[in-house]
Amino acid sequence: MKCTKCGGRAVIDLKRHNSGFCKEHFFEYFENQVRKAIDEFSMFGLRDRILVAVSGGKDSLVLWDVLMRFGYQADGLYIDLGIGEYSSASSQKVRDFVLARQANLRHVSLEQDYGYGVPEAARRLRRAACSPCGLSKRYIFNREALEGSYDVLATGHNLDDEAAVLFGNVLRWNTGYLGRQYPVLEEDPGGLVRKVKPLIRLTERETAAYAVLQGVDYIVEECPKAIGARTTLYKQLLNDLEIQSPGSKQQFLYGFYERGHDSFEASRDVALTPCTECGQPTTREGLCAFCQVRSRLLTVRA
Ligand code: SF4
Ligand SMILES: [Zn+2]
Ligand SMILES: [Zn+2]
Repeated sequence: MKCTKCGGRAVIDLKRHNSGFCKEHFFEYFENQVRKAIDEFSMFGLRDRILVAVSGGKDSLVLWDVLMRFGYQADGLYIDLGIGEYSSASSQKVRDFVLARQANLRHVSLEQDYGYGVPEAARRLRRAACSPCGLSKRYIFNREALEGSYDVLATGHNLDDEAAVLFGNVLRWNTGYLGRQYPVLEEDPGGLVRKVKPLIRLTERETAAYAVLQGVDYIVEECPKAIGARTTLYKQLLNDLEIQSPGSKQQFLYGFYERGHDSFEASRDVALTPCTECGQPTTREGLCAFCQVRSRLLTVRA
């Protein structure tokens, strides 16, 4: 296949755009898509301090790499979730990235700083690992961003991630979640930091290709707890649909942003009060969801 722009040898074909690109024009395409998302949703400016949540996977490391390449002030935040070999390997990838680029990293260990790891939390709470993991990550992202006085927290969620989450939310008509599903969540004066997703115009395959071609080394293995997770199933279903009908995934997601999201926004208007334990914002009286779960984990013995 030939590059749509220069006629040279294409290194990737993008059926949803009916085009293919050589390495140089793929970089141009990819970086333009990130710029477009940042501009379209007014995510941040060059003066803002950005905290990028990194897992050691392709999406978050590519995001951090691209933002630094564009000249943004972007630091990283890595949370060691205590998931055995997966956490050790992902932590090493992040350390290598930081060393090679002289970047700044905030490092949090769930076991050392909060007293439990994800597998242990799942076992004690009798819940799927993603439930305490997601709760802990959301809490720590916000806390670290506030403590470090960052203007915005950026995550590496891509088009595939967001389309799969949207599919799950529509399947169950989770109107509250639909109201919160957007590339930008504004800060709340009650103590929630601004959150943005600059990779929503790019697929997993595209970020993987960018990582390989740009020399961003990442952990290829998925988290072992992702196997059997609902989002993984939704991704497979949407990938099958995409093969039959290229462009469906982006039409589904962008159509929601343009014509569906506003209808659900009212469902997310809730008052926040400080948690009586940690002071972070919560919609509940007393302890926030994180402190409730943590206190159960630290008191209930296996
Ligand atoms: S797959 Fe689940 S357990 Fe693993 S990192 Fe993601 S949310 Fe956490
Ligand atoms: Zn080209
Ligand atoms: Zn709390």
